[in-house]
Amino acid sequence: MLIVKKFGGSSVADKECIFRVAERCIEDYRKGNDIIVVLSAMGDTTDELIQKAKMITSDPSKREMDMLLATGEQVSASLLSMAINSLGVPAVSLNAFQVAFHCTSTYGGARVKRVDSQRIRHELDYKKIVVVTGFQGVNKYDDFATLGRGGSDTSAVAIAASLHADLCEIYTDVDGVYTADPRVVSNARKLKEISYEEMLELASLGAKVLHNRSVEMAKKYGVQLVVRSSLNNNPGTIVKEVAKVEKMLISGVASDKNTSRISVIGVDDKPGVAFRIFNTLAKNNINVDLILQSVGRGGTKDISFTIAQDDLNETLSLLERSKELLGISDILHKDNVAKISVVGAGMLSNPGIAAKMFEALFNAGVNISMISTSEVRITVLIDENDVERAMISVHDAFGLAD
Ligand code: ADP
Ligand code: ASP
Ligand code: MG
Repeated sequence: MLIVKKFGGSSVADKECIFRVAERCIEDYRKGNDIIVVLSAMGDTTDELIQKAKMITSDPSKREMDMLLATGEQVSASLLSMAINSLGVPAVSLNAFQVAFHCTSTYGGARVKRVDSQRIRHELDYKKIVVVTGFQGVNKYDDFATLGRGGSDTSAVAIAASLHADLCEIYTDVDGVYTADPRVVSNARKLKEISYEEMLELASLGAKVLHNRSVEMAKKYGVQLVVRSSLNNNPGTIVKEVAKVEKMLISGVASDKNTSRISVIGVDDKPGVAFRIFNTLAKNNINVDLILQSVGRGGTKDISFTIAQDDLNETLSLLERSKELLGISDILHKDNVAKISVVGAGMLSNPGIAAKMFEALFNAGVNISMISTSEVRITVLIDENDVERAMISVHDAFGLAD
């Protein structure tokens, strides 16, 4: 079998962790499998590198940021390769250039284009364990570009898809995918299986256990994923096309604190205004999530929307620059907000889910400032300080507890 194993930052945080990962890879190698390991940077390295950049300038170029961040994964990959070699098994580490892991040119948020399989295959033919840096790709300018925070999961799935791996295992610091973040909701339940669709919603709405693009890509190429712990041998969660073991109304609750709300006040109440505002943001790759437009009054209206907090400064300066052109009289923003969402394919055929969620929030004394629904999810915007309370109450209300 060809197995891709991805280990997150906490799984390679120190010497003991690295040797534990090495042993785990060797165990499967000795069973006669071909092993590709995809690694994140050690522990909090990526955050520390970002802090280092901030020491130099508050506004580093995105290209130089990616040049810097790409070093993190090279450290962990080379160290793991050394550890495996020291245990008597041949291994080689490869970065994005050596693999030829091609991605789009957007620094800090590149998308995978194509992964060359030749070099990896060649090393596997020599019976080596191949250790590949996650998170990084090479763009058309021959520069490093990173795939966005948490992007190593996507690197692993891309490699698994391109080499037609039999198995893609995502090792992390929890036992699998739970009905809510087990660090917030202590009685959250581990799921045996979850569908791509539901996992994609959860990941996109803040459940960072998997990078959302990794799920998107796994679905597209039919790569079955297993999410499991690097610390024990528990079975983990299978992410696949149709999960039918547990037919649940709601499969999980997710929260996302990386959210800011912007309100543009007093724009003209006429056709084309919303188009111009959101087109300005779209052209600059800024994703808008929840949108709320007030009823027009005296020829003007207000539009509120949410974006990722990381995009706040850029969004504000874009709007500020086109304030006159867009006919905006004032721009307000709020940082300490968060989204919480319930996700479930069963929602479609069951009315009353929204009412139940709102009741749970009311019982917890949590105020809702925006609402958005789709066929498989309900999302509300609340105060950031209420997130933990809200999560526990909503999780409880849907009977998800263990
Ligand atoms: P890694 O470094 O292995 O990539 P991450 O920190 O990116 O790990 O993701 C794992 C974390 O995701 C867990 O520690 C957990 O706190 C968080 N998490 C959020 N939602 C969920 C969920 N529904 N199920 C499991 N873990 C979750
Ligand atoms: N090291 C990168 C990050 O922290 C990528 C990853 O861990 O998946 O975002
Ligand atoms: Mg991660």
